[in-house]
Amino acid sequence: MIVVTWGSATDTGKVRARNEDSLLAESPVFVVADGMGGHQGGATASRIAVDTFRGILGRTEVSANDVALVIEAANQAILDRARSDPAVCDMGTTAVGLILFTEAGSDFWLAFNVGDSRLYRLCNGVLDQISVDHSYVQELVVAGHLDPEAARHHPDRSVITRVLGGRNIPVPDFWIFPPEPGERFLLCSDGLTGELEDDAVAELLGTDADPQAVAELLVRAADDAGGGDNITVVVVDVVDAAPSGLEVSTVDRPRPDDGAGTSRGHR
Ligand code: CA
Repeated sequence: MIVVTWGSATDTGKVRARNEDSLLAESPVFVVADGMGGHQGGATASRIAVDTFRGILGRTEVSANDVALVIEAANQAILDRARSDPAVCDMGTTAVGLILFTEAGSDFWLAFNVGDSRLYRLCNGVLDQISVDHSYVQELVVAGHLDPEAARHHPDRSVITRVLGGRNIPVPDFWIFPPEPGERFLLCSDGLTGELEDDAVAELLGTDADPQAVAELLVRAADDAGGGDNITVVVVDVVDAAPSGLEVSTVDRPRPDDGAGTSRGHR
């Protein structure tokens, strides 16, 4: 048995005219998409992406191949819409996600990424970035031509190398791992990480037991730090999880009181 709780928050920020990010936070599927393109394009692309992922809701068995097919379908839906509507002809979106699935009686996380939205994991006070940005500056960092701090301020830092809505079918990165009690995940658009260093994110992420309160805190902090872009976060907590690979009988356990705006789920 696994029990997860989650919270989410999004804000336009102080600079952009509209919020082009979209999110899906409905156990067992958590997705953040950061849209781009003129007029309503960005918001349309990111919404198509998360709406396509809604098709996975209700399924317990999800493979990396299934997710790749969803990404391919979202990519095609964005292309079809762009072809039929000149107002959104140049739109695209990132997508980072975390999906809970069951295989052979055990629960697993399936994480995926296309673009530069991010997935972090906080456990025992240590923050790790799980996803790797598909961006021009990340490629320079990997090649040893740029240090990570310089990448944060590089003029081309928002140029991404994989996108949903491009001519090529995007190839996602995947990670599969068992859930652990006490771990907390953060999915976010670059409006958060562009304003807050990882140290600040780690500190804020650990300040409150309630994932909804933390989600709102993170968005407010990025907005206060400048709010130069749309800010979207989803925070997911593993409250309880059976040890990986072991069959454990299900016991009804008391769960914390639902806080305002906090969503909770269990399987
Ligand atoms: Ca953005």
